[in-house]
Amino acid sequence: MNAYILKLEKGIVVKMNGNLYLVATPIGNLEDITLRALRVLKEVDLIAAEDTRNTLKLLNHFNIKKPLISNHRHNEEERENLLINKLKEGNNIAIVSDAGTPGISDPGEVLVKKAISENIKVIPIPGACAAINGLIASGLDTKEFVFLGFLPLNKKLRKEKLEEIRNETKTCIIYESPHKIKETLSNLKDIVGKRKIVVAREMTKIHEEFIRCNIEELIEKSDHLIGEIVLLIEGAEKKKKENILNNLSLEEHYKFYEKNGLDKKEIIKQIAKDRKVNKNEIYKYFIK
Ligand code: SAM
Repeated sequence: MNAYILKLEKGIVVKMNGNLYLVATPIGNLEDITLRALRVLKEVDLIAAEDTRNTLKLLNHFNIKKPLISNHRHNEEERENLLINKLKEGNNIAIVSDAGTPGISDPGEVLVKKAISENIKVIPIPGACAAINGLIASGLDTKEFVFLGFLPLNKKLRKEKLEEIRNETKTCIIYESPHKIKETLSNLKDIVGKRKIVVAREMTKIHEEFIRCNIEELIEKSDHLIGEIVLLIEGAEKKKKENILNNLSLEEHYKFYEKNGLDKKEIIKQIAKDRKVNKNEIYKYFIK
């Protein structure tokens, strides 16, 4: 149905692929959609949606009429060829999920990889993402963080993930569903231990709430944890220790390790490691 888009390249007529747009949609509040996202949704030839019924509600709200095709976790691989062929025919396609940013614990990744391998242009249209919004309002360290998505259901894999969190010095972000929250908190208590935790619940919606406490305190409040939840767990102690040390002058940093019985060579090596610099730099500083 769609005509191939043609362009002239060095005097030769070549067929042009359509673009693949990854369009972020609101995670609750419908005002959280960008003007660009609305324009792209209006202009593309086809929208590949995680759940066409949900996307239809969004499109109706903004008075957008567009052909929809389902593209969810269970058919993403089989949809791949069909969507790639359509892109190669010159159709512009938008991927949307039920809420937030496609490809983040949502369909998108498979098609993006394939599109790139087929030289199809992939264009992100930024917008809401629960993980990032939970993080920025959490009050935990935002300089570096680890996003882990949903914890695995398989017991062994789940335990491994939780151990990863225990050893991680960066803020960890996980997605959780309300009916698993109690189990997850109990696992976190057993494996991760005492740590600051933040619940970012129902963000951008009427009952938006941030609970900032430690894992044990949160267990006591867990009956009340309904709706959509992002859990943010403070990084392990080492990070804080390093941060404190890195805020000292180099001389004070040196003295800290000297008091701990390290010799000069070990101290220089350790300072360089803490500050993530070459040990020669630290060495030269102290020679001066
Ligand atoms: N792609 C989405 C994004 O960019 O955030 C995430 C999709 S994932 C299938 C759904 C999970 O995101 C929920 O289980 C919850 O953990 C989190 N989430 C989505 N909307 C949220 C909201 N309004 N408040 C808190 N968490 C939310």
